[in-house]
Amino acid sequence: MVSRTIPVDPFDLIIIGGTGDLARRKILPALFRRFVAGQMGKGSQVIGAARTEMDTPAYRQMVSDAIAEFGGPEKKDKANLKKFLATVCYITLDARGTAGWEELGETVHSENIRAFYFSVGPGLFGDLAKRLHKYGMSDDRCRIVVEKPFGHDLASARELNAVLAKHFDESQIYRIDHYLGKETVQNLMAVRFGNMLFEPLWNSQYVDHIQITVSESVGVGGRGGYYDKSGAMRDMMQNHLMQLFCLIAMEPPAKFDPDSVRDEKLKVIRALDPLAPENIVRGQYEATETKPSYRKQVGNRDSTTESFVALKANISNWRWAGTPFYLRTGKRLRERASEIAVVFKDAPHSIFGEDAGRHRNILTIKLQPNEGIVLGVTIKEPGPGGMRLIDVPLDMTFAEALGPEQAGFPDAYERLIMDVIRGNQTLFMRGDEVEAAWAWTDPIIAAFGEQDPPLPYATGSSGPDEALALIHRDGRAWREIKA
Ligand code: NAP
Repeated sequence: MVSRTIPVDPFDLIIIGGTGDLARRKILPALFRRFVAGQMGKGSQVIGAARTEMDTPAYRQMVSDAIAEFGGPEKKDKANLKKFLATVCYITLDARGTAGWEELGETVHSENIRAFYFSVGPGLFGDLAKRLHKYGMSDDRCRIVVEKPFGHDLASARELNAVLAKHFDESQIYRIDHYLGKETVQNLMAVRFGNMLFEPLWNSQYVDHIQITVSESVGVGGRGGYYDKSGAMRDMMQNHLMQLFCLIAMEPPAKFDPDSVRDEKLKVIRALDPLAPENIVRGQYEATETKPSYRKQVGNRDSTTESFVALKANISNWRWAGTPFYLRTGKRLRERASEIAVVFKDAPHSIFGEDAGRHRNILTIKLQPNEGIVLGVTIKEPGPGGMRLIDVPLDMTFAEALGPEQAGFPDAYERLIMDVIRGNQTLFMRGDEVEAAWAWTDPIIAAFGEQDPPLPYATGSSGPDEALALIHRDGRAWREIKA
């Protein structure tokens, strides 16, 4: 099978915060990969902008270094790298001042699609939106891409939405969540809505429960200051896990278009029951012999911010009433592994008798480190010896069947940036979705103050024991955290 590269119109991608970590680690390497794939047509350009005084040759060197450090195998393609760098320039620009704005206005190609990637802190979004408008760059060929965090509560998210809405139409705003750009997340929708097999079973009659795990093995690293003001609930649950949750639980949209999909996701959030305190467990990682504890790492010995959260959510609608969703995320856990597991109910009666043991179908959508969709099915163990049943994985990503071109599939940032250029908002969050997610999360976070502080857990574990109890008390168990 040969992967297809869909051409896009020439575009300008302006990275405001072009010298920052995100630009260097993700955005620039992603653009280079799309360039190598032939998707950055003649007349396209990349403009880096930030306050640091630098000329274009120095910025090109920085871009080249970033690609060397963070790029994939294509970084060895020196001929393409040279051509790519020729499309890159730099403008010294202050989001809060006047420096650089006129030059930016003169540098962008007015006939191109112009995507302004706000790769800066959210405190600058309003300043940027205002100046893009003032300097005549907010017309309908212009799009803005905004990174997380989109607010830290409902009030701040509303404020951000209002600030952006002053100068941009919702159709121009791309709130990015890179989890939605993963190949497997889209494949999940293809599996659900492209096959007759799954959708009839996708409800509380057949699904016992659903688990979503986003586990990281690293701690807060150098982000301690930021993280301690945020915590796992704000940093991961409110956005990434909620987005995955919506996709797995939503009704089939009438069409695969942005608003049809986003309308259905919004309905899921609105149907969520408020979370009872007994349905949430928070934790903080402890020190090891070689690694500091959470509190030490964030420099706050009294911190009550959680580096782990597990919760049980219920959706009150016809499809899901009675099927719990267990969500957990945390740092310094056993492994870096993210997955969604749809655990189907037991067969109503085992014709093979009690000796055959308990067998359940589990559909696992693996998101990282490797992507894939696996259906656990029960079969007879081959060979003599009677009717012994075993569970085997049916790999539904068919990596081998699809061939080595798989490796060339775009990563999440590549896909999402190209979607911005094409004007496809399906995989981006709409303003009302973000607000609804905060509206559900806010009371949960507000109640933390009245609850016990987060429970300690060992580095390399699956979180506090109480998180295991959260699911055990329902007669269920978390899946092992395994890459
Ligand atoms: P960073 O390394 O601190 O970079 C910030 C960038 O903004 C720098 O290029 C900085 O350059 C520029 N900047 C700051 N103030 C400016 C101003 N007044 N005018 C123009 N440019 C200004 O931060 P980052 O890690 O790249 O993160 C950027 C955004 O993405 C943040 O909102 C972050 O939460 C979000 N995010 C980051 C990651 C990640 O992996 N890094 C992941 C998800 C989301 P100068 O100092 O030269 O101006």
